[in-house]
This record gives sequence, structure tokens and C-alpha cells, in this order.
Amino acid sequence: MEFTLTPEEEAFRKEVAAFLEKEVPQEYREKRLTFFDMSAQSDWIQVHRAMAEKLGAKGWISKHWPREYGGQDASPFHRLILREELTRYHSPGYDSIGAGIVAPALMLKGTEEQKKQHLPGIASGKVIWCETLSEPGHGSDLASIEVFAKEEPDCFVVNGQKIWTTNGHLADWNALVVRTDRNAEPNYRGITFFLLDMKTPGITVNPVINMAGHHDFNEVFFDDVRIPKENIVGGLNKGFYVVMSLLDYERTTDPVYAIADVYLNDLAEYARDNNLLDHIMNHRIAQLKTECEIARLFHYRVTWMQSRDMVPNTESAMSKMVSFELLQRVAEFGMELTGQYSQLAEDSARVPMYGRIPSCYLRSFGHSLEQGTSEIDKDVIAQRGLGLPRLR
Ligand SMILES: Cc1cc2nc3c(=O)[nH]c(=O)nc-3n(C[C@H](O)[C@H](O)[C@H](O)COP(=O)(O)OP(=O)(O)OC[C@H]3O[C@@H](n4cnc5c(N)ncnc54)[C@H](O)[C@@H]3O)c2cc1C
Repeated sequence: MEFTLTPEEEAFRKEVAAFLEKEVPQEYREKRLTFFDMSAQSDWIQVHRAMAEKLGAKGWISKHWPREYGGQDASPFHRLILREELTRYHSPGYDSIGAGIVAPALMLKGTEEQKKQHLPGIASGKVIWCETLSEPGHGSDLASIEVFAKEEPDCFVVNGQKIWTTNGHLADWNALVVRTDRNAEPNYRGITFFLLDMKTPGITVNPVINMAGHHDFNEVFFDDVRIPKENIVGGLNKGFYVVMSLLDYERTTDPVYAIADVYLNDLAEYARDNNLLDHIMNHRIAQLKTECEIARLFHYRVTWMQSRDMVPNTESAMSKMVSFELLQRVAEFGMELTGQYSQLAEDSARVPMYGRIPSCYLRSFGHSLEQGTSEIDKDVIAQRGLGLPRLR
């Protein structure tokens, strides 16, 4: 068993770190923004796009892809290292949905034309993606989605509403999952996965503001939206299988253990600088630090499996649940540590850590819902991992 990165991977980490040292805006580093709260910055999308294009120009977004798709055949640990360093330098620039989810799904299930059309845009960092799976009545129970695409001779025509679409207001392209057969038995055999240009007429995107006051997700309406048949991924009525493999990637695309670790380090530093430490606080920090290390090892195991062309499934569910719930506990600890001071307005002279503590805390409630809820992760682990019966 080997617990270290290769010399080449370590060299890549140094190269990325040296680059980010120069490129990441000072304000982002000073405020120590995390992946989940930096979109609240007024210039976030400009900074994100600029960084993404620079990472794309370096070939880093696609470095771990096969050469035939424009990559460098590097190990998936390069993706992990890139994400860890972006986290450590408080930098945007990685499109979790495009690079983290759509690209691997396309490589697995896309046609050669789809790969040629979409992979270069994702690798370049110039194209932003969203995914529309969830509906107002269907989130966890994805097999029951109702938004319908009706087949016509030359295309499919979509009508209905999706919700919780992260970056729907910014995205150029959309991974859309809809029903194409209302009579399918079982119902998941009537679902199709489409690639949809967000400039297509008939799409309306409305903001949904989260309880931290930020605009990340949206509701999306489709009124007679026409999608060419060649935009189907994985075959008509076979979209559920594409989604299942996509979720295995989605659950571990973000380095949440690293986000928790960086945030915890910042809290510990703040506590030290402001004389907030006592025996109990020290132990709380030590406990959370240990959990960050556990979550990191879960994530590394998934990445190791991917490097061996194995498909992590229960391992992804475990990793996702452990790391996102950990980040919730770290965010909660931030509130406890700073007490009443965390309640001060963002522009108050005494507010700790640029007023980010309450918004990190409020944003953290979504962590056990997004990318599949913790309860669904436990279902995956119990049923697929342990062979326990499905009790519904
Ligand atoms: C920050 C954030 C970003 C998101 N971004 C996107 C996005 O970009 N695109 C997209 O399509 N969706 C997105 N979502 C939606 C997300 O995928 C759904 O919220 C999630 O799948 C849960 O669905 P739901 O909200 O309908 O809750 P429900 O499925 O109604 O679940 C409600 C509660 O019941 C529990 N529950 C449901 N089924 C079971 C079961 N079988 N066993 C035990 N408990 C169960 C759930 O765990 C949950 O606690 C996002 C959500 C969040 C919070």
C-alpha cells in the first residue's frame, strides 16, 4: 500500500502552486474564500472565467484525460492536486459540472461527434455547464421525473420546469435529463439524457436565492424547446444509466475535505490570534482536523480506484457523505467559536473573518442535500455495498 504521490505528481503540485501564487486575486486570498462562498463576490464570474481560461491554456483541466480526447494521459491525482491547490489558494476557475461531471460522462457514454464538439470547450475553460436533473416534485426520486420531451421527426420538444439548477444563469450548455416515455415500466427506463445549448429559444432562467443570500441556483422553464436528436447521450430512454455513472463522478468531483481543512485552519488561526483557545476548543479543533484527514483518505481511495479504471460507487457515496457532513460540522464550529461576534454586519470593524462565518454556516445546510442527499448515500452503501434489502 502506497500513501504518497509520485515525484511527478509532487512536481505538478509545486508548478500549480507557483502559478496560483502569482495569478489569484489578492482579495480572494485575503478573505480566504472557499469554493462554496466565493460566488457571492461581485466579480466572481469574471475572475472565474479568467482563471478557468488560464488553467485551460495550461492544459491542466484536461491533463488526466486520455490523449485521444486532448488530455495528457496523466493520473486522476492531477485533477485532485489541481483542486486541492485551487482550494488552498482560494481560487475559482474549475467548472465542477463541466469538467467534473459532464466530461467523464461524455467520455464514457457520448458519441465521437459529441466528444469532438464538447470536450475541447470544457478543456479550454471557456464553456460553462449546468445540469438540470431535479424538479419541484422530484429530487432524490429521479426515476419519477416528469418534464417531458416529445419526439418529432427532426428533434425532441421539451416542456416543463426544473429547479435548483446551479449556474443555470451563467451556463452555455446544459446536461438535461427528461422523460421521453410516460408508459415505461419501470419508470427509469423512460428517461433520456440530452445536451442542450442554453441559447436555444424557449428557455427561461429565474434566480432562486439561497438562505445565505447568494444567487447560485435557479429554476429553469422549458417552453417548446427543440433539441436535435443527435444531442442524446447514451441512447433514447437510456438516460438513467448515464445519470447513475454521472453521479458516481459528481459525488467526488469537489475536494470538500480540503475545503473543510482550509476553513478549519483559518478558524484555528483566528482563534489563536484572538485568544479564543482553551482546552475544549483545542480538542474540538483536533477532532475536526482528524476528521478532515479521514475524509481526505476516503477521497484519495476513490481517486486511486479511478486511476485503476475501477468504478467507485459505494466508495463515492461514503466519501461524499463523510466530507460534506464534515464541512457542515466545521461551519457550525465557526459559529460556536466566534459566538456573538459572528452576528456582526459584514462591514463592522470587529466582524471576524470578513463576515463570512454566518454565510458559510447558512450555505452548509445544503451540503447534505446537494449532489444527492446523505440518506440516498446511505441507501447506496446499504443496498449496493452491503447487499441489504431495499425497504420502500
Ligand atoms: C446547493 C444545492 C445545489 C444543487 N444543484 C443542483 C443542480 O445543479 N442541478 C440539479 O438538478 N439539482 C441540484 N440540486 C438539487 C439536489 O440534487 C436535490 O435537492 C436533492 O437531490 C434532493 O432532492 P429534493 O430537494 O427534491 O429532496 P427530496 O428528494 O424530496 O428529499 C427530502 C428529504 O427526504 C429524504 N429522502 C428522500 N428519499 C429518501 C429515501 N429513499 N430514504 C430516506 N430518506 C429519503 C432526503 O434525504 C431529504 O432529507 C442542488 C441542491 C442544493 C442544496
